[in-house]
Amino acid sequence: MAVPLLDVNAQNHPLESEFTNAFHRIFHTGHFIMGQEVTSFEQEIAALVKSKHALGISSGTDAILLALMALDIGPGDEVLCPAFTFFATAGCVARTGATPVFVDVCPTCFNLDLRDARKKVTARTKAIVPVHLFGQSADMDGVLELAREKGLRVIEDAAQAIGAGYHGRSVGTMGDFGCYSFFPSKNLGGLGDGGLLVTEDDELAKKAISLRNHGMSPKYYHSHIGGNFRLDALQAAFLRVKLPHYAGYTANRRANAAFYTERLSALPGVGQASLDACAGLSPTPAQQEPAARITLPQALPGHDHIWNQYTLRIAGAGQRDALRDHLAARQIGCEIYYPLTMDQQACFASLPASSKVGCEVSHVLASEVLSIPIYPELTVEQKEEVVAAIAHFLATQSVA
Ligand SMILES: *Cc1c(COP(=O)(O)O)cnc(C)c1O
Repeated sequence: MAVPLLDVNAQNHPLESEFTNAFHRIFHTGHFIMGQEVTSFEQEIAALVKSKHALGISSGTDAILLALMALDIGPGDEVLCPAFTFFATAGCVARTGATPVFVDVCPTCFNLDLRDARKKVTARTKAIVPVHLFGQSADMDGVLELAREKGLRVIEDAAQAIGAGYHGRSVGTMGDFGCYSFFPSKNLGGLGDGGLLVTEDDELAKKAISLRNHGMSPKYYHSHIGGNFRLDALQAAFLRVKLPHYAGYTANRRANAAFYTERLSALPGVGQASLDACAGLSPTPAQQEPAARITLPQALPGHDHIWNQYTLRIAGAGQRDALRDHLAARQIGCEIYYPLTMDQQACFASLPASSKVGCEVSHVLASEVLSIPIYPELTVEQKEEVVAAIAHFLATQSVA
């Protein structure tokens, strides 16, 4: 039985008639950009993410860029961001003319290591962009403490973590801005591109609203240089169809993660990531390599993980690629998120060396990680198949 890494339409098909109705509703208004539909969506999603101001945006990437622009970040500024993440975070920083400074991550939770971030603060550091990778919050107490102490702005990249929590708080609402994505593979996926920007600050909200539409107010009078970062009315209408189902999607993802963790941890050679080694939980994290051949991800205490990805670490030279090939041969989808760290990207070759030092854990992760199917509509048989394939790999592939 084939098990795709992701089947975005598995959750869209049952809603087809509602999508069709939404299309007809918007089609007949003739109002395709922003407007009442986007406003209604913003109100509904603000309740989900527990934020004061929620702005529909053209994409998650644009939400990050808009946040940086609203905070006047640009040439001469340095912005701390993780070395191990999707490109958009660092890409937006570079597009403003600021310099991204890459911070190493934690081997247990994959998120920013605040001890490394602290070492990399200079007189030019203006902001820090924690990414809540794979659906789990970064160490936000650590981020906010560093930001307060050094006077940094905080932009949360919550593209993979909409609805996730952190000790009772909502991911994306703890910094100056929070950014989310509705790219179809995200936990709340649209039928195309879309994003969201949130803030608790009235002034920042006002500025972001203006910059979203060319910094224009009144019409054809531009006080700031903004852009077109608007969300389509159709996309807002489609997302409103999916919103009431979001809690169910998350519950299924959590159940899938629990299934994998229970079944895989029973296999010889499999262990769970060490909480003692987590940079955010332990003042002197253990640095030794994990003993297990396969290390399972952990939901940290107080973090309401929403499992955008279930990401394994496979130790040993060539072993990760061997497992990937083993799963692919059985038509089981898997993906390396991410094979190259930000400091290793060709497009950042000309950044100063000081932007790229000390990302050793990130480099190890890039060579060891492999994400397996976790999407909400997986059947028990499909999950069994994934577990059986991994068990077979462990039993038959010898370690070099
Ligand atoms: C998906 C993603 C983005 C970008 O979102 P888009 O809507 O695709 O532009 C930014 N950061 C992270 C961590 C992401 O996973």
